[in-house]
Amino acid sequence: MEILTKTKKRVYTFGDKNADGSSEMKNLLGGKGANLAEMSRLGIPVPPGFTITTEVCTEYNGQGRDMVIGLLEEEVAASIRKIEKNMGTQFGDNENPLLLSVRSGARVSMPGMMDTVLNLGLNDDSVIGLAKKTNNERFAWDSYRRFIQMYGSVVLGMKPATKEDEDPFEEIIDHLKEKRRIEHDTQFTVQDLQDLVYDFKDSVKKKTGRNFPNNPWEQLWGAVMAVFDSWNGNRAIYYRKINGIPSDWGTAVNVQAMVFGNMGDNSATGVCFTRDAATGSNEFNGEYLVNAQGEDVVAGVRTPQQITKLGSIRWAELAQTDEDERRKNYPSLEEIMPKIYTELFNYQEVLEKHYRDMQDMEFTIQDGKLWILQTRNGKRTGAAMVKIAVDLLREGLLSEKEALLKIEPNKLDELLHPVFDPKALKRAHVIAQGLPASPGAATGQIVFFADEAKKFKNSILVRIETSPEDLEGMNLAKGILTARGGMTSHAAVVARGMGKCCISGAGALKINYKKRTMTVDGKVYHEGDWISLNGSTGNVLEGKVATMEPELTGEFAEIMALSDKFRTMEVRANADNPKDAKIAKSFGATGIGLARTEHMFFEVDRIKAMREMILASTVKGRKAALEDLLPMQRKDFEEIFEVMNGLPVTIRLLDPPLHEFVPHQLATQKELAEDLHISLGAVKSKVAELEEFNPMLGHRGCRLGNTYPEITEMQTRAILEAALSLKQKGIAAKPEIMVPLVGTVSEFVEQEKVIRETAQLVFEEYDDKVDFSIGTMIEVPRAALIAGEIANRAEFFSFGTNDLTQMTFGYSRDDAGKFLPIYLEKGILAADPFEILDQEGVGQLVEMGTKRGRASNSDLKVGICGEHGGEPSSVEFCYQTGINYVSCSPFRVPIARIAAAQAAVK
Ligand code: ADP
Ligand code: MG
Ligand code: MG
Repeated sequence: MEILTKTKKRVYTFGDKNADGSSEMKNLLGGKGANLAEMSRLGIPVPPGFTITTEVCTEYNGQGRDMVIGLLEEEVAASIRKIEKNMGTQFGDNENPLLLSVRSGARVSMPGMMDTVLNLGLNDDSVIGLAKKTNNERFAWDSYRRFIQMYGSVVLGMKPATKEDEDPFEEIIDHLKEKRRIEHDTQFTVQDLQDLVYDFKDSVKKKTGRNFPNNPWEQLWGAVMAVFDSWNGNRAIYYRKINGIPSDWGTAVNVQAMVFGNMGDNSATGVCFTRDAATGSNEFNGEYLVNAQGEDVVAGVRTPQQITKLGSIRWAELAQTDEDERRKNYPSLEEIMPKIYTELFNYQEVLEKHYRDMQDMEFTIQDGKLWILQTRNGKRTGAAMVKIAVDLLREGLLSEKEALLKIEPNKLDELLHPVFDPKALKRAHVIAQGLPASPGAATGQIVFFADEAKKFKNSILVRIETSPEDLEGMNLAKGILTARGGMTSHAAVVARGMGKCCISGAGALKINYKKRTMTVDGKVYHEGDWISLNGSTGNVLEGKVATMEPELTGEFAEIMALSDKFRTMEVRANADNPKDAKIAKSFGATGIGLARTEHMFFEVDRIKAMREMILASTVKGRKAALEDLLPMQRKDFEEIFEVMNGLPVTIRLLDPPLHEFVPHQLATQKELAEDLHISLGAVKSKVAELEEFNPMLGHRGCRLGNTYPEITEMQTRAILEAALSLKQKGIAAKPEIMVPLVGTVSEFVEQEKVIRETAQLVFEEYDDKVDFSIGTMIEVPRAALIAGEIANRAEFFSFGTNDLTQMTFGYSRDDAGKFLPIYLEKGILAADPFEILDQEGVGQLVEMGTKRGRASNSDLKVGICGEHGGEPSSVEFCYQTGINYVSCSPFRVPIARIAAAQAAVK
């Protein structure tokens, strides 16, 4: 075990130009802490404070609370003295108390996933001192009741009893509001706030059996440890899981002097973005609330107002508020505090230029003075990601390479999802209007609780407001609809990060959790009813609305073109039919890396001929059945070649076990017997004969072609005749014939012989020729080992990484469902090897196979096909291994193109 010493620096201070940290130190200080230090250095007003490093979180998880307090005590005390000096207040003093915020902050931002406590340091005595000092009794008691509420839920574990119940503190608040017949928190009197404090404390005592802590130091350590604990809270764990964040990173803790947005009408708090996080357009935007603290905006307690005048006018249009009412009740910050607005506008410009990326900022205005509380690279949708990267390049803030590296390849997936068909949209009935928080087209059945999102295959999560607890359900749902909350609520931020369609603040919805209903204009919608969300306009629509494929133009096309400029590795697609080939080509595939012939056999007329072939008891009978299949296969190939128009097409000979093609139900077996004029018994016994214990390791791949060479003959003939017939039409075809599942050289050589002999026959018959090549898949580990020998004969290799993974691990992919999820959860495997190529093991075989193959055949072309061909980290590995091309499903071609370009640039 590591020996923990006091000499290591565990606490870094910030707040002026001499801050200890900088934005380079995200791993140690967390993103929030590093950026607070960086802003301090830039001269931006940040309340002073200090960061306890992420390493301490790991020490805490290993050693526990007391040990960690011992290690930190002196440094923390010294840092607090520094804040006291700076602020002219004293921590724990009753007359002139220093109040603190205690905030989490991991290396990468996990918005809302961990906990924050504000106004720490208040107690029954200092609240009176604070009231006197500020001459603002209301403010002091408002801060105190907020502190008890936050500390109660974060540190003391005050949670709602069941999911249908409200938060215990919110319940008390609602009760009081009802009694006093008021709507907003801002309407509470001093007496009301004092009552709340009393009732809150009472509720804490009843639920936890303990008194609310009065001692500020006890409060501080409690909050620091709670932040460490929140790293292992359910939300944070789930967020890490879906975003692939390692659990050993830990969170830092930021302790900072409070600044107050709740001091009256000259105070406010808000969140802003330097560009639009939904669309990417270059418009400063954000939301704020007067006389409030930060959590009010992000948690959707009150409907926030827009920062810019333009945003405010647009918001009013959506909310159908007329201009007079807007100016009176929902004015923008730009209008009511123009000087502060200008200052904020300038900082956002400075910060975006400094970080050279879109920033998501938090700010608070205390009695006319602006403070910046956070900045980070903002979460954004896939569309916004592309637009912002291209715009920053145009504006000269990023180089071409840097712009390319700003793209998260997997996020491009969002852009490829279907959009609503405009014609269907016109006919659709709009039931409510909300804020377009995250674009997209979602259709699904209503659910009211996050943990019920899996109830339906397509569900729409409908909530009064979502909280970070709902993360898992939000991820499962097709779309999210909330009655309350703005564009900057945690829910909206998280939805945009996920690329999930979200409409927030649809105020006309009346949601009843107990009855599980949503009512709009008197019409009641129940759980399970279908609705659709248009996340680009904020329209909530009744029923299902038809969708169509998106058009990929504009910035998307630009970024793809840019990627082609740097990319050296080819990207092909796996496509079995002309339709997929067309999609692949439109997404920029430069060939087909895998055309599986067996899928062509499953269509009605073909499966019959196929079955006839399988059931034939003689070679003659088999050949007759194959004769019937020949023209059909030829036509398939002709169509694919025609689409690909001269680009290479790798066709794999028949691969799956024959068992997959015969009928297993009595009725179909009977039909087949009648069709073929044989007895039902004969069909049944053939089906039984084909059954295998381990079909994946059985009679399949080239083992079929080597036992039934007539199949290989027919397929070769179909491929070459197709190419010849296109040649006559003046269309080039470039067939590459691929032998599957080779494990020994002879297996390949035998098949190669059949192919070459057939080719010669066909060319003689046609008195014409076409170029073609013969290669093999490397998917049996033995083939990778003897790759040198195989490459003496084969013209190309294609690593079939699905089967190769299966056989290297000895996991049957079809049965892995029983243990893989548990392995992943327990960390026995770091990632699903069928999704992310196992570079350590399977990767060695790929590397070795490539090296040995190239050593004996320097012209050897090497590719990979399989799911991994479209997975960014695997694509990068392929690039480093010197592979010529990756081949993936058509919809992942753009992702692979970007990933391949990024690998080259890195
Ligand atoms: P998250 O990571 O969930 O955004 P934060 O640590 O940023 O959590 O805190 C949440 C909110 O608390 C912020 O939006 C901010 O408004 C408020 N807050 C945090 N620190 C302070 C502070 N020192 N003074 C005033 N408000 C603060
Ligand atoms: Mg924050
Ligand atoms: Mg295979």
